[in-house]
Amino acid sequence: MIRPAPTVASLAAYALADLPGGLVSLAQNESMLPPSPLAAEAGRAALEDAMLYPDPEWTALREALADCHDLDPRRILCGAGSMELIDGVIRAFAGPGDAVLGTQYGYLFAATACQRAGARHDRAPEADCTVSVDAILAALRPETRIVFLCNPGNPTGTRLPNGELRRLRDSLSGHILLVVDEAYAEFDGQEPLFDLIDRGDTVITRTFSKAHALAGARVGWGVFPPAISQEVRKLLNPNNVSGVSQAMARAAVSDAAHMRRIVAETAAVREEFAAALRRAGYHPVPSRTNFVLLPFAGAEAAARADRALRAAGFLLRNVAAYGLDTCLRATIGDGATMARVAAVLEDLAENPA
Ligand SMILES: *Cc1c(COP(=O)(O)O)cnc(C)c1O
Repeated sequence: MIRPAPTVASLAAYALADLPGGLVSLAQNESMLPPSPLAAEAGRAALEDAMLYPDPEWTALREALADCHDLDPRRILCGAGSMELIDGVIRAFAGPGDAVLGTQYGYLFAATACQRAGARHDRAPEADCTVSVDAILAALRPETRIVFLCNPGNPTGTRLPNGELRRLRDSLSGHILLVVDEAYAEFDGQEPLFDLIDRGDTVITRTFSKAHALAGARVGWGVFPPAISQEVRKLLNPNNVSGVSQAMARAAVSDAAHMRRIVAETAAVREEFAAALRRAGYHPVPSRTNFVLLPFAGAEAAARADRALRAAGFLLRNVAAYGLDTCLRATIGDGATMARVAAVLEDLAENPA
């Protein structure tokens, strides 16, 4: 018998979210529009160099990001998706006996990363599907090494204003690392908080998967204080981001107009969709992202809506694993798709079980 290491054997089996084929997927917060044509072209050109290992320092991509956001390129690390960076920072700074404090509806992958690290994952309650700084401060324990939060949040779509984030950082001890996952920041449009990195105790992660429409390329990035990035870098694979992906991401940075178009069109369709649902009597959670959290009267009503939507060809995300079994999460697709989804839900509202 070949035995796995005990820490691995105790992890839950790898299971993808329920994503049956044949349906229009509105389940993974992918972009409704394709990536910049410049990114596609750069990716095709980079294929010619596929016999070479990629740049392990992501030099050109880091410089493009640093230029765009007025950052020191040495502060930036790139990952195979921001998930790799989130996993790396948790493993680097939390181990057995330590705790990572997330929030009630915070990104589930952080809990997975904690299991891999052997660290405990605690949760601070949210208020009205929104992160609460006071609840986080009240939930700190002596073992808390990291506070992890998503801003805007997934699956809630709500955001904490910058002032509250600064208050959180100022109220936390300098021995606690604050990690802010800003996967949806481009949709939100708040001023970036990158100045917090200079404190030495805060990390911000971003991704090309959402507003840059490059989920399939697997590129994330983060801004780290030097002493933090030095440790996280040890845990990333040396050649973690392929040359094609680095080239695509770099070109995407240079086409900010395309990203802004994705953000603007997504917001327009999202607001139209939410307004149609409100007219039908639903109460979608106001969103700053490319998805909407949709509460139903109860778990059975949510399950019934899920069945009706699947029958009509649409797959929304079941968010029961977040403790939200009365809700579904809808990624914003194109206008015609969302009008059809709204029509199914209007029909359900008019014909209660
Ligand atoms: C989509 C998403 C990410 C990005 O993951 P990648 O690995 O960069 O694709 C990170 N955090 C949250 C909350 C997300 O929803």
